[in-house]
Amino acid sequence: MNYLFDQATLLPYLKEQKIPAFRAKQIRQAIYKESLLDIDDISTLSKDLRDKLKEDFVINDFTLKEKVEGPETTKFLFELADGKIIETVLMYHRHVKPEYEDEIKQRKILRSWTNHDISPETHKLNRITICISSQVGCAVWCIFCVTGKLGFKKNLPRQEIVLQIIYANNYIKGKFGKKEDGTRNKVRNVVFMGMGEPMLNYDEMVQSIHAMQDQTALWLSKRHITISTSGVADKIRQLIDDKIDVRLALSLHAPNQELRKELIPMIARRWDIDELMETIDYYTKSTGNRLFYEYIMIKDKTDTKVIGNQLGKLLKHRNGHVNLIPYNENPAMPDLETSDYDQIIKFKKTVESHGVTVTVRDTLGRDVKWACGQLWYEVIMKQRIEDMEADAEANTTES
Ligand code: SF4
Repeated sequence: MNYLFDQATLLPYLKEQKIPAFRAKQIRQAIYKESLLDIDDISTLSKDLRDKLKEDFVINDFTLKEKVEGPETTKFLFELADGKIIETVLMYHRHVKPEYEDEIKQRKILRSWTNHDISPETHKLNRITICISSQVGCAVWCIFCVTGKLGFKKNLPRQEIVLQIIYANNYIKGKFGKKEDGTRNKVRNVVFMGMGEPMLNYDEMVQSIHAMQDQTALWLSKRHITISTSGVADKIRQLIDDKIDVRLALSLHAPNQELRKELIPMIARRWDIDELMETIDYYTKSTGNRLFYEYIMIKDKTDTKVIGNQLGKLLKHRNGHVNLIPYNENPAMPDLETSDYDQIIKFKKTVESHGVTVTVRDTLGRDVKWACGQLWYEVIMKQRIEDMEADAEANTTES
C-alpha cells in the first residue's frame, strides 16, 4: 500500500490516472495542515475520488497498541503494518501563566520537569516536541540501553518516520484544539532520539527531513530538528557535505577511548574517539552550530573526578553544552547503578572548572511511575530535550 502523503508516489499516480494536479495540493493541505488521517475525511475531494484513492493509498497504517498519558508526555506504542513495534513520545512544554508566577515560584515548581502538578489552570502550553524512532530495535548495543538489548529489526522507511509526526499532529488536534490566535497546536520540534541510531538509516532519515522542512508539507524549522547520534563519524561528515542543515546531539558518554569501547563498543571500535572529535570539529567549523553532548552518569564508571577532568579537558575548547543524564537502573542491566546525586553535582563542578557549560536536573522528585520504570524514557528524554532546546534558543539569540 502507498502513502497518500508521499509525493514521490502520489504525483506519478495522479498523472497516470489523468487526475488534475491541483488535487495533490488539496490532499497535502488535508494531511499536513488539517492533520487528517482518514481519506474519507478529505471533504475537498469527491466521494468517487476518495473511493478510488482508497484502492491504492492509505494515510495511516499504524495500529495504536498502547498509549501512556502523563502530565507532560504522551507515549505511543505503534504496531507497523508488518507487525513490528515502535515507540514515539510527545513532550509538552508548558509555561506558567503570568498570574500564577509568584505562587508557583513560592511552591518551587517553576518549570520543574519533576513536577507532575502542572495543570491547565496554572500552566499554558508553549510548544510540543516529538521524539521519533528511526529504526525498529538498534544494532549499536550500548550497554546501558534497553533498545540495544532488543537487537536490530529493521530500518524505518521515510514514510514511517514522517507518519509518526502526522499521527501526532492528529492526536494533538484532538487533545488541545486550536490556540488562542486560531492556529492549530502542532509538533514544533522533532528529535531523532527514539528507537534506533538514525545515522545508520541515513538515506531514509534524510528523505524524512526533507519532508519535515518542505513548506508544503510539515514545514518545520531547521533549528527545530535534531539528530542524536552515538558517533557514526562517517555519516556526520556526509551530513555536513550533503548540507543537511539540522542540529546535532552527540551521545559521547565517555571522554576516553577505553571507556567508550566499554559503553558503546560497536561504534567506538569503528570510529575511535580521536577520529570522532576531529569529525565534531569539522561539524562545528562547517556549520557554526553548537553541539549538544549527552553524557550518562553511571556509578563508579563514568562519574569519577579523573573522568570529569578528562571530559573537561576534551571539551574545553569546543563549542558545546554537556548534559549529564542520570542512568536509569533497569533489571536488564543488573551490574550498572545510577550515580549518587551528590556525585553528579561534584562531577558537574569538575567539568565546569574547565570552562565547559554543563547542565543536570534534580532527579529527586521522581514519582511512583519512575519507581516501576515505566515512564523513565519519557522523563529522561524530556529532560534532555528541554536542556538542548534551551541551549539552542540561547545559541540563536547569541548569534
Ligand atoms: S544508539 Fe541509542 S537506541 Fe541504539 S543502543 Fe545506543 S542508546 Fe540505544
